[in-house]
Amino acid sequence: MATQEVTNVRLLDNYVAGKWTPATSSEQLPVVNPATGDVLARVPLSSAADLDAAVAAARVALSAWRAVSVIERARRLFTLREALEGRREDLARSVTLEMGKTIGDARAEVARMIEMVEAACAVPTTMQGRIIEDVSRNVDAETVRQPVGVCAAIVPFNFPAMVPFWFLPFAIACGNSFILKPSEQVPLTQQIAFELLDGLDLPPGVVNLVNGGREVVEGILGHPGIDAVSFVGSAPVARIVYERAAKSGKRVQALGGAKNHMVVLPDAVIDKTVQGIIGSAFGAAGQRCMAGSVVVTVGEAHEQLMPPLREAAEQLKVGDGLDEQTQLGPVVSEQARERILGWIERGVDEGAELALDGRAAADGAGCFLGATILDGVTPEMEVAREEIFGPVLSVVQAANLDEAIDVVNASRFGNGVSIFTESGASVRRFRHEVQAGMIGVNIGVAAPVAFFPFSGWKDSFLGDLHAHGTDAVDFYTRKKTVTSRWFSSGQGTGTYFFET
Ligand code: NAD
Repeated sequence: MATQEVTNVRLLDNYVAGKWTPATSSEQLPVVNPATGDVLARVPLSSAADLDAAVAAARVALSAWRAVSVIERARRLFTLREALEGRREDLARSVTLEMGKTIGDARAEVARMIEMVEAACAVPTTMQGRIIEDVSRNVDAETVRQPVGVCAAIVPFNFPAMVPFWFLPFAIACGNSFILKPSEQVPLTQQIAFELLDGLDLPPGVVNLVNGGREVVEGILGHPGIDAVSFVGSAPVARIVYERAAKSGKRVQALGGAKNHMVVLPDAVIDKTVQGIIGSAFGAAGQRCMAGSVVVTVGEAHEQLMPPLREAAEQLKVGDGLDEQTQLGPVVSEQARERILGWIERGVDEGAELALDGRAAADGAGCFLGATILDGVTPEMEVAREEIFGPVLSVVQAANLDEAIDVVNASRFGNGVSIFTESGASVRRFRHEVQAGMIGVNIGVAAPVAFFPFSGWKDSFLGDLHAHGTDAVDFYTRKKTVTSRWFSSGQGTGTYFFET
């Protein structure tokens, strides 16, 4: 939709230096409800000058924020937690309105968002350093952790509430200042989050929100005032972000795309396995980075699984995610629907069998697509290798567990993988051998748990430290090691390594 067609809905502001601030750029995009086509707001595509203002504010904030005690910083997060709790339903409705996922799924996302804040509240413990006495006689060595500086995060459309909070609470807990660039497709939910952050009485510039697209991202990657960058999005952009941010000397973590496998062994509990696969493949209309998009059946699991799986997928109620009865909401945009329809055609052209065709749901208004299953897929087909990011499930057959593990490990991605079986020995081998960052055992979506690190391997992740959990404190702090002795104590006279 052209920008000039929608001038009667609110234009979103940025949040810079503790104030809601209009972007200086005149470029903007409509924010569209994918279930109805309604324009919800207009989002500015901020300019380099808007980013500069946020970076300047964030740099100024650093000394004031670092001077706030770590216990007080944690207390502000407790307050944020309560504020988020109070707006839970508003946040969930906002997620559904702008992104399309069902309201139940959106509520679960908001619950995960709040857990991120809860995990970050532990910062007076998690940010502790280490000390050891007498590395030499009367000489002590200690490592302390200090904030990295100005940290930025660039986030995707599919988790408007949670993914920004993989970073923001941990960054500010550790004493950093922070700049968020939300997805221009779903900028509304973070407007609510920043209203709540505005109520925390943080020094101006500790948290900043800069709406926009590629220009803001490119500005972040080369900006001399930014010290660390976190990215979540598609694999090609993750690579650009990783390379450019690293080239300009920044600390960087870049979480990319995925092609997640769900391996089903013949001894799996079939009805529960079907539920797990349905939730994973078709939840959020297949637009989760943890969505299982390839089922690998081992041996006779194929004939046990396929009839009930097809039936359950066919029965999914497609509709507006705000309707509590809906089980499969729209995909995020018309453009996404067209791309996914293209993938279904490509699968058929490659020789896959259309076991369930969800394309009829795409005929009306709204960006809907029904659950689609491609059977008889081989690992070489593009539909088995590339990320489709829609409600399309491919089914590959393997003769045994070895072959299934080979299928999983042949992927260039390694985000998540699940196994469905009651065999402990098979699980042991599987978890030991598969090349992926997140593993589900009889769990279709190995979802992020705030208190543990989360990320993939291979093309699904570029960097070292994963998101949240213990890795967050490592990412958001720099270590400083101090070696000391004290002469006036009368004990500082021993040798210090080679000194005599
Ligand atoms: P995307 O890569 O299109 O966009 C992500 C962010 O990058 C957005 O903020 C966008 O404005 C910006 N961007 C887009 N194109 C750019 C370019 N050429 N140069 C600079 N910046 C650019 O991703 P998306 O469509 O919003 O999200 C879906 C993707 O994210 C999927 O591939 C999914 O697997 C992935 N994802 C991964 C994880 C994970 O944990 N690994 C989590 C969520 C989503």
